This record gives sequence, structure tokens and C-alpha cells, in this order.
Amino acid sequence: MWENLEIGLEKASQEQLKEKPSQDGLGFGAHFTDHMFLMKWDRERGWHDAKICPYHKFMLDPAAMVFHYGQAIFEGMKAYKGNKEQVYLFRPQDNIERMNVSALRLCMPRLPVEKVFKGLKALVYLDRDWIPTVPGATLYIRPTMIAVEPALGVRPSGQYYFFIIMCPVGSYYPEGFGPTKIYVTDKYARAVKGGVGDVKTSGNYAASIMAAQEAHQAGYTQVLWLDACEHKYVEEVGTSNIFFMINDELVTPPLGGSILPGITRDSVIQLARKWGLKVVEKPITIDEVIESSSNGTLSEAFGTGTAAVISPVGEFCYQNQTYVINGGQTGTLSQRLFDELQAIQSGQLEDPFKWMTRVG
Ligand SMILES: *Cc1c(COP(=O)(O)O)cnc(C)c1O
Repeated sequence: MWENLEIGLEKASQEQLKEKPSQDGLGFGAHFTDHMFLMKWDRERGWHDAKICPYHKFMLDPAAMVFHYGQAIFEGMKAYKGNKEQVYLFRPQDNIERMNVSALRLCMPRLPVEKVFKGLKALVYLDRDWIPTVPGATLYIRPTMIAVEPALGVRPSGQYYFFIIMCPVGSYYPEGFGPTKIYVTDKYARAVKGGVGDVKTSGNYAASIMAAQEAHQAGYTQVLWLDACEHKYVEEVGTSNIFFMINDELVTPPLGGSILPGITRDSVIQLARKWGLKVVEKPITIDEVIESSSNGTLSEAFGTGTAAVISPVGEFCYQNQTYVINGGQTGTLSQRLFDELQAIQSGQLEDPFKWMTRVG
């Protein structure tokens, strides 16, 4: 299927093929498949040398600009196996388009969408035996672009690598779908309007690690981020978007420049609207969340993202006070969204929005 793609194919030799890990206890991001996609860019040639090749190490100059100035962007998506061995991707073109938005913001070259899409499908098909079949386990796909020109000085690099690597990952919920405890920080900020919080660039995650570590030390799974200016408006939870069910409205913060436009977020909005729910994108303050929690109108809260799909929030801590949501249990809407999205993604349910791309 990779003829006429202008994409080279260099298959791993028998000796290069790796032993596949056991499907129980896969964890996240620990094992990588046999092949990768790699493509290079420079000012003279543009994108060139696109190929699918054995997974391998890079030799980079210590002066490669990514190491110093962090010009790096990435994506996260998944491949799923249906019950007849069909292989699916969930909204893959949206990931490629979003990566181009990130590239523009970081002054990196625009990806050739069709070529990347074809390369992605061919790579997933070639390594399809790596897609786990145990319930909830999937193949996580990580497209990445980095600046590799060996030069110091803050300016756009003149050379880039774009690559796609893939890893089989276990179920996000090995002990069953259940709520998390989150820590609301008013000490750290993730993103600010005018910054890069609305694109998937590596620096955002480097900047978030300390807050996450302190939350873990305090016994919480994730950080709930507030806006950087007033520490008042709710923005995101960990590396997920956030939703609140208050009275009969499903509320999520609007995409105002500091929030990552999640594809799962958009899918939840479309699905909930199709079910007749009222979905409102509007600013929501942490005080409103607390008030609705205290007066009983907040029935559910959950995060959305590719890794966990839906992540219900059972408890949050803000300024040394803890608040329990829905008795610390998974809410009915969270459960319904999780079940429905998972069923669509694994090809078990009809796909009314044409979200799925069949690879093989
Ligand atoms: C990737 C990401 C999300 C979720 O996006 P999806 O497309 O749903 O996976 C949300 N917030 C941040 C900060 C992210 O990096």
C-alpha cells in the first residue's frame, strides 16, 4: 500500500524485529514498535527523504537547536483493533492539522498533510501486529517535529526532523474505570494568553512537571490549572480538557488562547449535543465550581484526552479544603461518554460522525 507515496520503505530485517512485550502490564510509553516514519526538512530542499524504516536512534549534534531553545512539537493519537482484526485510527487528520497549527506558532515548516497521512497509515499497517488486543489496550502514536540545525542563537532552525514512533499501551484503567483526585494549584500556571498553551509544544510539559510532582506528593493524581492572570478561571486538568455537569448544562472552558483544543473535547461536545444535552463553552471560575459543589448542583466533572479518553474527577482540593463530587463515584454521563467513545473507537458501534479511518 506504500507504492506511489514517494515514501521509501526499508523493512526491519529478521534480526532487527523485536520481541513483543506481554500484553498484561504494558504500561504507557515503555515499548516501541519495529518501525518508524522519518522525514527531513531543510531550506534548500523542503521536506525530503520521507521513509518508513526500522526504529532507530538519532545521532544529533550537541548544538542541535531543539536541545537549547525547545523548538519541538508533538501529537498523540491511537490505533485500535476491531474484533475482526480491522485496524482503525480516530480522527487522524485532525491531529495532523493541529500539528500544523503548532508548527506555525513555533515557526516550524508546515507538514505535507496528505503525505504524512499516507505515511502514518502505512506505518500503522506495517506494524499492525503490535496493536494489543486485550480490552482497553491500544497502540499509541507519537508524531514529533524537532529543530536539528547545529547552531546557537535564538531564531528558527534551518533544519528539522519529523518522525512518528508508536508504542503498545495498556488500558489506562487496569483496575477499572474510576475517578481521580485532583489538586487545584494557585501557585503555578500552565499557560497564558499570547503564549503557547494552545499548541502542543514540549516546553509546556517541562514547565508543568513541578506542579504535577507536588500534587503527587500530596496524594493527588493531577493538577487542575487555573488561568495565569487571576488564578480564578478553570482551564485544564493535567494534560486534559475539563468538563463540569452543573444543573442541566455541560460546561467547559472556551478555547481562548491558553487552552489546548483537544480532539476528545470536541468529540465529547459533538456527542453530548447529539444526545440532546446542553453543552456550553464559557469561562467558569473555581469559586463557581466550589459553590455548585456545595449546593449540590455539580453532579459530575471529568477530563478528556486521547490517553484516558474520559477521566472522571471524584475529589478536588483547593486551598486546603477538599470537595467530593458525586460521592467520589463515576457519574452516569462520564460512564456513558467513555463507553460510547470506546465502542466507536474499537469499531463496535456505528460511527455517526465519520471519525474513524480504516487502515487495514
Ligand atoms: C493533548 C492535550 C489535551 C487533549 O487533547 P486530545 O486531542 O483530546 O488528546 C488537552 N490538554 C493538553 C494540555 C494536551 O496536551
